[in-house]
Amino acid sequence: MLVVMQSHATEEQVRAVCQRIESLGLKAHPIPGSLRTAIGITGNKGEIDLGVLESLPGVVECIPVSKPYKLVSRDAKEEDTILRIPTLSGDVVVGGGHVALVAGPCAVETEEQCLAIAERVKKSGARLFRGGAYKPRTSPYSFQGLGESGLKILSKVRATYGFGIVTEAIDNESLDLVEEYADVIQIGARNMQNFSLLKRAGRARKPVLLKRGMSATLDEFLMAAEYILSEGNYNVMLCERGVRTFSDFSRNTLDLAVVPAVKKRSHLPILVDPSHGTGKRHKVLPLSRAAVAVGADGLLIEVHHEPDKALSDGMQSILPEEFAELADEMRQIAAILHRTIN
Ligand code: PEP
Ligand code: MN
Repeated sequence: MLVVMQSHATEEQVRAVCQRIESLGLKAHPIPGSLRTAIGITGNKGEIDLGVLESLPGVVECIPVSKPYKLVSRDAKEEDTILRIPTLSGDVVVGGGHVALVAGPCAVETEEQCLAIAERVKKSGARLFRGGAYKPRTSPYSFQGLGESGLKILSKVRATYGFGIVTEAIDNESLDLVEEYADVIQIGARNMQNFSLLKRAGRARKPVLLKRGMSATLDEFLMAAEYILSEGNYNVMLCERGVRTFSDFSRNTLDLAVVPAVKKRSHLPILVDPSHGTGKRHKVLPLSRAAVAVGADGLLIEVHHEPDKALSDGMQSILPEEFAELADEMRQIAAILHRTIN
């Protein structure tokens, strides 16, 4: 259910409607828009008495939302959500024509490794640095990440180069630490339906980057985001990272068609990860071109200065000089589409 307020409704009127909703034992989610505020209602098990709410001052109408997802839907908010990620070098803006480049290694391995990569991707214009301190690995015998000491290395990268830090939380315990150290909390593909983790991310004070599960439908993907918003965190960006198909020439099949499909249904920004989406270094640049052309709000790119020695995902990591070329091309493609890279 969505309560649409008049364009000139006062803050007090919005607050009064929210209080009324809460007094009915429901949860109110005010969603300010450029023209007017809408208030999403969740927690209802059945019908809500519309008369009670529609008669309150400042209310235009109450609209039942038929889709399973509500707060992530364009019905709740017509215009694109634009995220602002504060960094030491100013806000990084994602969405609404602003395309973000997120670059770095799959895993934080050593301080020297991160600083070497960070220095080079910064020169190419990346402002968000990615690197996993907690790695969800298929094999329990593979490198699992450095944990908190990896997060400390990422803090050093932030302090040295002014990046915003994007790093993954794999469970509620690591999320507590990631929230403390990082600027964006990544939830990985394998955890897209870890509902307790999604709820915890919804209570976090940092933006969340939610990756699509490797076999998730679009509805499941949006419902996972709905978990985060329903707990009060509206700063969510989605990320397409490839899905499993019968295609056997790539690690995954990068589903770029999901980008316009998301944009039609949701106001949330969506990034594309061509590194995991293809699994092969030589495919990262061509798929990045396509992703920006199709409307992605950002790219997540794995970069390593010594990919042959990488502890994870070396095969799909590009070299810093390849990233420089990629960033340059992305700027040109974005400009044609009247979008900017930051
Ligand atoms: C990653 O970003 O390094 C990662 C583990 O990605 P995904 O969750 O998409 O597999
Ligand atoms: Mn990886």
